[in-house]
Amino acid sequence: CGIVGYIGHRQAYPIVLKGLQRLEYRGYDSAGIALYDEGKLKLSKTKGKVIDLKEKLEAEISTSGSIGIGHTRWATHGVPNDANSHPHYSNSGELVIIHNGIIENYDTIKKELVKRGYQFHSDTDTEVLVNLIEDVQKQEGVKLGKAVQIALNQTVGAYAIAVFDKKKPDEIVVARLGSPLAIGVGEDEFFIASDASPFIEYTSSAIYLEDGEMAVVRLGKTVKIRKIHNDSLVDPYVQELQM
Ligand code: GLU
Repeated sequence: CGIVGYIGHRQAYPIVLKGLQRLEYRGYDSAGIALYDEGKLKLSKTKGKVIDLKEKLEAEISTSGSIGIGHTRWATHGVPNDANSHPHYSNSGELVIIHNGIIENYDTIKKELVKRGYQFHSDTDTEVLVNLIEDVQKQEGVKLGKAVQIALNQTVGAYAIAVFDKKKPDEIVVARLGSPLAIGVGEDEFFIASDASPFIEYTSSAIYLEDGEMAVVRLGKTVKIRKIHNDSLVDPYVQELQM
């Protein structure tokens, strides 16, 4: 029920882990983190508390990397267990997603994807969404941001999502409809979170996405925000938070 992300020059893991702890008040049954370092995506997730994740993750993967996304889950589709915890990989292993909310028409989309040869390793609606994004990328040959937009326009439901593509490791794509999502803007670094508490100690500049908006958060660029449904560009409104 919470999401956190980091892309920049610091080590992502401590920021994402502490961010998940700050979001614990939202309630959750599982937690997970994906990190990207030197061309490799790595991921650890577990049913249980963020403190259980810390122990498991540090035993399973190295914590290095300056890009990371983390999630606390409040299960809606699929029981709380390790496999259903987020993040979720796409079939190619190139995309990874975290998601709060519900994709209501996931079953119809899943049947279509299964016909096309996609396999599923969880019972979640979220794993369907990340594979739909991958399928759009493959079918249409579009960039990640566009693929996310096309995929979301085929869904019915509610979401705050963050998607990372290891083929394009300088950006994270986020979108919001019905679940909160804030972007912290630092110097050559960005933070993503359900509320500002995970990043307030690093930056006081924040962009709050409105419902129906998505953003491409790319290193060295200003945040580009669009309306998911009609593709119109929205001027980012950067708020100065009280630290
Ligand atoms: N619907 C997703 C799931 O069940 C996300 C739940 C959440 O908001 O944490 O995995």
